[in-house]
Amino acid sequence: MMIDPDRRERLKQNWERVEDEVLRAAEGCGRSGSSVKTIGVSKYVDAETTLALVQAGCHDLGESRPQSLWKKAESLAFDTEIRWHLIGHLQRNKVRRLLHHRPVIHSIDSQRLLLAVAEESASQDLQTSVLLEVNISGDEAKTGFRPQALAEVLISPPEGIRVIGLMAMAGWGTDRDDARRQFEKTRELRDQLQQQGDCLLPELSMGMSGDFREAIAAGATMVRIGSRLFEGVIDRS
Ligand SMILES: *Cc1c(COP(=O)(O)O)cnc(C)c1O
Repeated sequence: MMIDPDRRERLKQNWERVEDEVLRAAEGCGRSGSSVKTIGVSKYVDAETTLALVQAGCHDLGESRPQSLWKKAESLAFDTEIRWHLIGHLQRNKVRRLLHHRPVIHSIDSQRLLLAVAEESASQDLQTSVLLEVNISGDEAKTGFRPQALAEVLISPPEGIRVIGLMAMAGWGTDRDDARRQFEKTRELRDQLQQQGDCLLPELSMGMSGDFREAIAAGATMVRIGSRLFEGVIDRS
């Protein structure tokens, strides 16, 4: 499958526009542009289109399914500039194969999964960077740690992993004000955890196509942008 020149050009424009908007959102609240990394969520497209996104300048790619991540990572393995991010649910039986691609894992949503990743990392002689996913909206259907459970997890993180921060998603159907409040709660939680646990949690992965500005205003350091990048590039009807 080839991506035609028009779509390739549109993808490049979309990427540049998103990068520019992220930069302006950061600067608009007194932060530097380099304090926010844009992760291009490539889960909507094939490997060919994903490669075109990389060629447009996006080197951090997010996938929500571990199988899709490793398939794409295998077919794009010649590009050593790519940094993979797993942003969706991970089952323990997929950890080994996933870790071959050295991803940052944003979606650690239970103590059992954290331990499984730590164990496999240690056996592959790796230090895996992970974020703990927090269920900030209080929505029962959502995955993630309850805020109260996090302090305990951080007391003695197992070997093989480095907990670099928190990941949060606004609940379904929340408006922008609600989203902003949830992101602010996440940052406050992070600040508290750092103080209590005497640890560093520099990364906050929050914000998607529809709410990245609110997330950046609340302190996001990683925004996960998918659909905005592929407008006019793929047919999503
Ligand atoms: C799909 C997905 C995104 C990207 O969402 P868009 O609205 O398409 O930008 C971000 N984060 C997670 C966890 C996702 O599953």
